[in-house]
Amino acid sequence: MLHLPTVKKDLGDYIDAGFPILYVYTCEETKVDRYISSVAGRKKVLEWNGSEGLVDFKTKAAKNIGRDQSLETTLSFLKNGRELDRTLLVIKDADAQLASEETLGPSESSRVTALLKEIARKIRKPDGGIDATVIIVSSVLHIPQTLEKLITVLELELPDEEEIKSIAANFIKNNEISAVPLEFLEEMVIAFKGLSESEIEDLLSLAIAREGELTRETLKLIFDQKQQMILKAGIIEMIPLKESIEDIGGLENLKDWLQKKAKVFKDIKTAMEFGVTMPKGVLIAGVPGCGKSLSAKAAGKLFDVPLLRLDMGRLMGKYVGESEDNMRKAIQLAEAISPCVLWVDELEKAFAGIGNGGSGGEVTTRLFGAFLTWMQEKTSAAFVIATANDITKLPPELLRKGRFDEIFYVSLPNKDERSKIFQIHLNKRRKEDVHKIDIDRLVTETGGYSGADIEGVVSESIEGAFVKGNTELTTDDILGCIHNTHSLSEIMKEPLEEMMKLYEDRKFKKASR
Ligand code: ADP
Repeated sequence: MLHLPTVKKDLGDYIDAGFPILYVYTCEETKVDRYISSVAGRKKVLEWNGSEGLVDFKTKAAKNIGRDQSLETTLSFLKNGRELDRTLLVIKDADAQLASEETLGPSESSRVTALLKEIARKIRKPDGGIDATVIIVSSVLHIPQTLEKLITVLELELPDEEEIKSIAANFIKNNEISAVPLEFLEEMVIAFKGLSESEIEDLLSLAIAREGELTRETLKLIFDQKQQMILKAGIIEMIPLKESIEDIGGLENLKDWLQKKAKVFKDIKTAMEFGVTMPKGVLIAGVPGCGKSLSAKAAGKLFDVPLLRLDMGRLMGKYVGESEDNMRKAIQLAEAISPCVLWVDELEKAFAGIGNGGSGGEVTTRLFGAFLTWMQEKTSAAFVIATANDITKLPPELLRKGRFDEIFYVSLPNKDERSKIFQIHLNKRRKEDVHKIDIDRLVTETGGYSGADIEGVVSESIEGAFVKGNTELTTDDILGCIHNTHSLSEIMKEPLEEMMKLYEDRKFKKASR
């Protein structure tokens, strides 16, 4: 399971325990430098970076090791071990050299990785290897396959509320800005959550440059910046809030439940003071075309927060580590934007192939681990709505208590629900004709139809009437369309029946009343 150790808690221990290569995944080099200095103790620290080659870690002054300062030459120079004894070797800007062979061609990347491998072996040698640790600092997670087993990834956690407070306080002191009221500072701290130290400092500087002081405008700036972050990352998409809870026909149990959670969510501070736990999220599974996505979309408006959709397809990267990298970015973003609803669409697609062996299977297994851990430990106000058509493809751990607050299953709409779905879609398009249409008749004729089937019938019959040059829509138009339609349950009767039985057996909650 992928649960990354963190720089703050674990860096010192991993160095002491003789782990040969640590990979610190962050874009905050200055902050990592501080941590490295604090754990170095009596060890020497060397740094190689892309612009200067080998430098003194503290002063960043170049060390002369000859004409060629490339990483390859530096590692060849260091590999005999003498120079490395009792040393932390920090490597920065090495993404290109560490990128997989697929992007670089075998020569360059494999020479650097071979040298790293050789050094790691010397560190690990059982009868007293060299006392050194290689620390790779990078903002991307490209781990060459050949080094996978030798590398331990550490994450630099984002600042917590206390740290944000002290970053802001330091900024205010260093820039001689007039102090802000405590209450405002607290609001700002919440708004800054999910941003890195340097992002926070940049935003504070920007606010000062614009306003000369920290004002309400600063809060707006922070929110705008968070929106920018989503757009840039591209794995998460921001969905406009169009659908509302009234657009869902039926699914009354699910709607009631969502309404209760919305009430908590909208007043989360008071709710938590009262003792309510932070809502985690819900898994909505079941028959395709019956309102799962629709419910996720409507939840955004209901909760009155941004709705983010996580595209699992885009998340799966080509390179080792890339998918996890994306998953982590997505999670960080969702936390940064929170309070928000994070809609994870077609969950089963992303997690198909778990435990299959093979490298693809391994990636999904790790991805899945990261997701599970996050769900388990999540305390942020990012409410997850995962939707899935087929839960038999989902690993059982996901369905255990503690991940989601509830699991609902959606089946084909019953009579009452079909009637509501007809009314919703007819009202949307031909409001003037609804009162003349015999909805009961339509309901009787559409047993086994999904919500999407019904929507299809409505839109097709309206188009048909228009093309024929009619001035209104009639019950017969719609009936004609129904008779030409193959409903979902006709097409996949048996799998649907099996699925329903499975949900009943597992005692998941029914979305319909
Ligand atoms: P899925 O369950 O596969 O996520 P969707 O929610 O995307 O299905 O449904 C597809 C479309 O069918 C919706 O956009 C909506 O127009 C219609 N639909 C499905 N279920 C309902 C429903 N319960 N009430 C109203 N419309 C529905």
